Amino acid sequence: MLPRCLDCMRAAACNQFSDIVEGAGYSLNVKGTGIYTAVGIGTHESARYMLSHKITSGVLPPVGRCIEAGIEEYWRKFSEFETVEYDNVTPSQDVGAYQINVLTKAFHRDIAPRLKFPENANPSDHLELFLKARIGDDAELSGHIDTLTSHSLLDTKSGKMLRPTHTQVGGYTNLLTANKRRKRENIIIAHLPRVRKEKVYPGTTLDSYPVDFCINESWYLVNQVLRDVKNFIKSGNPASFQANPQSTLCSKKYCRAHGTKFCEYY
Ligand code: SF4
Repeated sequence: MLPRCLDCMRAAACNQFSDIVEGAGYSLNVKGTGIYTAVGIGTHESARYMLSHKITSGVLPPVGRCIEAGIEEYWRKFSEFETVEYDNVTPSQDVGAYQINVLTKAFHRDIAPRLKFPENANPSDHLELFLKARIGDDAELSGHIDTLTSHSLLDTKSGKMLRPTHTQVGGYTNLLTANKRRKRENIIIAHLPRVRKEKVYPGTTLDSYPVDFCINESWYLVNQVLRDVKNFIKSGNPASFQANPQSTLCSKKYCRAHGTKFCEYY
């Protein structure tokens, strides 16, 4: 949620706190699940499968088996989605499955061999780790950390474009500390770009983020969100959440408030 808050706090509130917004009497646009979510889930499952094997056996499993694990999860997820919204990069279910195949091969070749885990590590302590922590009396912060290596927190992105996610990974680091786990010295963002089927895979990138900056940015943003939610519950006023009508995501396609009484810019 946090990176979207920087783009438009009001749009982020519609995603994260739709029950509070609708409970105050506002109707929001109905949005299906984006196909990118399903491709991301499949790719993450491939990575989880291969790294779990690496942690327990010391070697990577055959890439074909990792692809199978990811695609199996991809199809399983589809049965849970009520409606799916396709885009021009992934116009069908089959293209999504093909993209998981490509992204899994890239992860297996470009990222997995470089990751180091402590000896005798337990995969569940290092992969897809769900953590939560209370903030004050009435709020909770939670998040899913993709991968914790010996020295790094690694977050994997499979979107078309990479947007800055410092606040998200800073939040993960705050969750580690709150749960009395060791903060990692590095925060790495691995980007496996999802591209159209007919395009050549453009290459994996690894970005390093400054850890203390991420922690600080995240902490202040979380407190801003809590303040805004409290103000909205008291007043019912959408202006409690600052709007950004100049956002490139300000459209009915991406925003549940667009064209509703909750946000009347357009
Ligand atoms: S319509 Fe635009 S300004 Fe209003 S909440 Fe949505 S993205 Fe933000």
